[in-house]
Amino acid sequence: MDFRMLIGHFLGVGALKRFSTEKSVADIPTVRVRPKARMSRERNYQLLEQASSNLKGMVLVNLVASICAAIAIYPYSAKTALYWLCAVGFITILRASTWGRLLHRLHVHPPAPHEKRAFTRRWSAIYLLGLVSAAAAWIGLLSVAVTISEEIKFLVMIIIAALAGGATGVAAPMKWEGRLYISALLLPSAVVLALNTHSGMLLAFMDVIFWAVMIGGHTNNHRVLLRSLELQLTNTALINDLTELNTSLECKVMERTKDLQEAALTDALTGLPNRRGFQQKLTELLEKSKREDSGLAIGAIDLDGFKPVNDAFGHATGDQLLMEVGERLRNTLGEEHFVARLGGDEFGFIIDGREEIDYLQQIGDMVCRDLAASYSLTGVVAEIGASVGMCTYPWDADTAAELSHRADYALYHAKQARKGTAVIFNHQHEAEIRELANMEQVFRRANLDEELYVVFQPIIHTEDRRTYSFEALARWQSPILGNVPPDMFIRAAERSGFIVEVTRYLITKALKAALSWPKHLRIAINLSARDIASMDAVEGIINVVQSSPIDPGRIVFEITETALVCDFDQAREALNALHHAGVQIALDDFGTGHSSLSHLRLLPFDKLKVDSSFVADINKHQASEDIVRTLIGLCDSMRIDCVIEGVETREHMEKVIDLGAHLLQGYYLARPMQQDDIQGYLQTEQTASVQRAFVENESSSQRKTG
Ligand code: C2E
Ligand code: CA
Ligand code: CA
Repeated sequence: MDFRMLIGHFLGVGALKRFSTEKSVADIPTVRVRPKARMSRERNYQLLEQASSNLKGMVLVNLVASICAAIAIYPYSAKTALYWLCAVGFITILRASTWGRLLHRLHVHPPAPHEKRAFTRRWSAIYLLGLVSAAAAWIGLLSVAVTISEEIKFLVMIIIAALAGGATGVAAPMKWEGRLYISALLLPSAVVLALNTHSGMLLAFMDVIFWAVMIGGHTNNHRVLLRSLELQLTNTALINDLTELNTSLECKVMERTKDLQEAALTDALTGLPNRRGFQQKLTELLEKSKREDSGLAIGAIDLDGFKPVNDAFGHATGDQLLMEVGERLRNTLGEEHFVARLGGDEFGFIIDGREEIDYLQQIGDMVCRDLAASYSLTGVVAEIGASVGMCTYPWDADTAAELSHRADYALYHAKQARKGTAVIFNHQHEAEIRELANMEQVFRRANLDEELYVVFQPIIHTEDRRTYSFEALARWQSPILGNVPPDMFIRAAERSGFIVEVTRYLITKALKAALSWPKHLRIAINLSARDIASMDAVEGIINVVQSSPIDPGRIVFEITETALVCDFDQAREALNALHHAGVQIALDDFGTGHSSLSHLRLLPFDKLKVDSSFVADINKHQASEDIVRTLIGLCDSMRIDCVIEGVETREHMEKVIDLGAHLLQGYYLARPMQQDDIQGYLQTEQTASVQRAFVENESSSQRKTG
């Protein structure tokens, strides 16, 4: 068994087992062997301690023996007995008081380790003094006893021999002190016996033999004691060292656990806390706010346009961008606010303290503004935006989960309605989102055959003042929810994942309707991002087109720019495939979202539809007018059609015709209509509202020029 395993086995510590496999031998703190001097100092001190604990019995036995001797002597010489008792009493008091002090020092005020050696020496000397004075008293009594009677002499001798015999055990802890005591009892008594008695030489000889045996016995006892004490000290030292080793291992394990815990709460890329770190901090600050009756706000940040950067320039650039975003957030929000990366291109922050809504809005706006500035990354300059959703405690929610949910609601609202801005949660957002979720549920269960249909809105050509094409617009008449706007249920269908089926179904319906129209009329059909996100979906659309008797040249698929930014390469492949199938492609809602002229250059567009928002304020804002004029000119030079959407008033129409527009769509000219109404509409087209609109337009232009 290897040394580390042995220690591990001995301690039964799991950590040690791990340590033994993961660390090198050099890493293990070695069990230190204590220096000999330190060991002997400790040993002598403990011997003194043992001797002191035997001392009580020794003094007591001495006293009892002395009293017995006094009683025996008393009938012969009362004076001697009395003197003897006084001497013994005096010595006993001295010995008992020094013993008491020794005990006090040992157990109440023990010496410091460095004082132990001197302490042991001093008290060993005092101990010896006590023994020698007791022995001297007995020798003195023996000298008197030999003159009193044979009986008393033997009694005293027996007592001395018994005391010497007992000393082999009780004085065993003290090597030299014990030997001196035994010698002080037996050797002088041998001399006294030799000098004063009849058979003195024989008794003295026996006494010396007895002395030698007692010294041998004492030496043996001392040796055994010493060995067991040394063993005990070695074991204690080993256990101490192992405890030390174990403590140091425990510290290492604790440090490591702390490191692992920290790593589990940190995002490796940005060095910011991760989602778990964010949740932990939020819970902690929320508890604090509740305790102190203060407040806090949290922000959820979502980057707009991160994916295209990642797709176009690769993951290394994407990572660099995320790191820069983390850095900017740290700078914008400063040390006092908590920032975290929640995952992917989502970040979060916490503002601790009860703050005014205006201040929170300012912070949110600042975050959006700072994150929207361009990023100079290695070899590229990237442009992204950020939307922020914020929520406050105690006004909006009072649990961490609710706060996070509501910040997400606000973020969702920002992304849908005010991309690139910061939105602070209000309960209407939640209601809207819940409504949307509810609608999604109803849509999933809807009978699409009965509830879904298509209406058609004419797009008018200014030259012949007639319908040039119809745009098919989906309608959902739900028995539960009533009429649901298409942009809402199309989004629900996108989220629930069956938009591709819905689109195929709508195309089939629209093409079927177009069959009965005059052959020169085109049909425009909207596609959503998901419809071009996979080639399977695109092939499905092409199949529907090819299985219809309608000439593909009459079909226009409209696609918005937001559908292009998700995966540009895929979008290009999809649009090329549709184009090859003979259909036309229109870029819808141009001017909103991520408008880029390079889309027009790189993708096979036949038409561009200028978003209705430009027409809406064309008479109020010169910039809108300029944009529309430029776009019409651009389409002319690129030889693609330009459709102006949202022509709602006579003024709109006048203005866009002035700017050179040829294709117009809007409520002023015609509203979306049912398939059944198209025939009638087309027949009366010459006399109907469209003509009226043109006539009014002309007369108003004449009035102006006149
Ligand atoms: P869009 O493609 O821009 O369609 C034009 C929208 O503008 C239609 O709204 C139309 O009714 C409305 N409109 C037309 N003239 C005017 C006007 O003068 N003023 C105003 N304010 N609006 C006008 P609608 O039918 O509610 O459709 C909204 C959006 O829903 C569409 O915008 C399109 O993005 C989406 N959509 C509609 N049908 C479908 C479809 O079948 N598939 C897909 N993927 N999306 C569809
Ligand atoms: Ca459209
Ligand atoms: Ca449009």
